[in-house]
Amino acid sequence: MSKIFYITTPIYYVNAEPHLGHTYTTVLADTLARYHALAGESSFFLTGSDEHGEKVLEVAAERQQTPQQVADYYANTFRETWDAVGIRYDRFIRTTDADHQAVVQSVLQAVYDAGHIEFQEYEGLYCVGCERFLTDRDLENGLCTDHERAPEKRAESNYFFKMGRQFSWLTEYIDAHPDFIRPERYRNEVLSMLKEESGLGGDLCISRPKTRLDWGIELPFDENYVCYVWFDALINYLTGIGYPDGDDFTALWAAAEHVVGKDILKPHAIFWPCMLRAIGLDPPRHLNVHGYWNVEGRKISKSLGNMISPLAMKEKFGFEAFRYYLLRDMSFGVDSNFTQDSLILRINADLANNLGNLVSRSLNMVKRFAGGSVPEPGPPGDLEKEIIETANRIVNEVDREMRATRPQRALESIFSLVDATNRYLERREPWKVAKQEGGDESVRTTLYTCCEALRISAVMLSPFLPETAAEILVRIGHPGELDAARLPGSAQWGGIQVGATTEKGEPLFPRIELETTEETKK
Ligand SMILES: [Zn+2]
Repeated sequence: MSKIFYITTPIYYVNAEPHLGHTYTTVLADTLARYHALAGESSFFLTGSDEHGEKVLEVAAERQQTPQQVADYYANTFRETWDAVGIRYDRFIRTTDADHQAVVQSVLQAVYDAGHIEFQEYEGLYCVGCERFLTDRDLENGLCTDHERAPEKRAESNYFFKMGRQFSWLTEYIDAHPDFIRPERYRNEVLSMLKEESGLGGDLCISRPKTRLDWGIELPFDENYVCYVWFDALINYLTGIGYPDGDDFTALWAAAEHVVGKDILKPHAIFWPCMLRAIGLDPPRHLNVHGYWNVEGRKISKSLGNMISPLAMKEKFGFEAFRYYLLRDMSFGVDSNFTQDSLILRINADLANNLGNLVSRSLNMVKRFAGGSVPEPGPPGDLEKEIIETANRIVNEVDREMRATRPQRALESIFSLVDATNRYLERREPWKVAKQEGGDESVRTTLYTCCEALRISAVMLSPFLPETAAEILVRIGHPGELDAARLPGSAQWGGIQVGATTEKGEPLFPRIELETTEETKK
């Protein structure tokens, strides 16, 4: 098993506030980083902001600011948002950072010297929103399908990366590494995109003349041009871990995993591996691709005002609950639909009724029947053995699902233990048995079993619900449990300390009433 884990989000473009889409990607990367750290790996989590290109100039013009002021504002907004909701990144990289500009220039020079970049004239239909020339496939009724705006006809001399030379290698690589792009549907999509791109020659424009765009990294071999945004942006994944000569660079790059939304599949699955090949580096270990979040059945868009701010969600529902919903409700790779009702139903069902209820019932009874400390159990009976087996099973299941980037299934697995423990409590009925003569040992065994199931659930939930997990561990008398926790050992049955002082506390997740609006009454 690898002892190093390197996870990235895309760097977010600095022309809008963080919304639901950014939040999902970032929460997922954070959860994966925390999981691998829990598994004893040295984990590095990179996020950041993409700050060059024409759209920043557009915003700057609107606001009568400099592009640097716009970039600073949004970069700070992203960073402060992630800080406020407890995202534990290791570096927040900005494409305006001095080290990044230096790395981009040295990579460009090396790729140019190796003969992979050529100067050519090009004419075509250019979408300012996409920052690229469009193909027929990108157009519908003469409008860019992504931006619903008419492209401009442009002729330009520019520098082109000859990525088509790498296409047969890339096709073979993808065939030989079936889990490089996952889930599988996106691998198939990339293979057909590759065929289409091959037909077009596979030249990637990597420059803009300064006469038109001067907000970017200057090409080291032509001071009249700046670097095109994708070439600049993707290299952040190298800069962020100290390319070329940082101490851990080689080990971290060998363990690299990107999390991206499907809208940026092509640059990550085609441009990037070809660039890396020209640089002399291997592709990342995995490209993990998620679907879109729609909101109340509609695409997220500024004009609809349905961006869903992570800070607003934190304010209204608590960020842990929101985080749980995102990870649990999106089936990784597939589009998902955010609705406030589904969020509330999910919080109530899983967090309030299931997990929260198990914590309060168990610790309430530990107080009533065991003096408020984890009791000494008798030998396990059949029902206890079932719980122990479930606990052992989920540790393996969660590991498998997390390494395959299926967080929703990992959560399902953990909640199967929570569920089973609630049912177990119903069957053992300690509140009745406590009144029976000689029932004492059975009650102690039952409550011990519940506390230990809670401890293991909390350890396994900690990457998903870090604050909640820590709180559960405090309440069962194991503060600091996560400090040195390592899987699978920390989740092995029997780790709970008999005699540890427990504390019932307030409900972890109070039930939330559905807001019945005029809309939903109809
Ligand atoms: Zn467009």
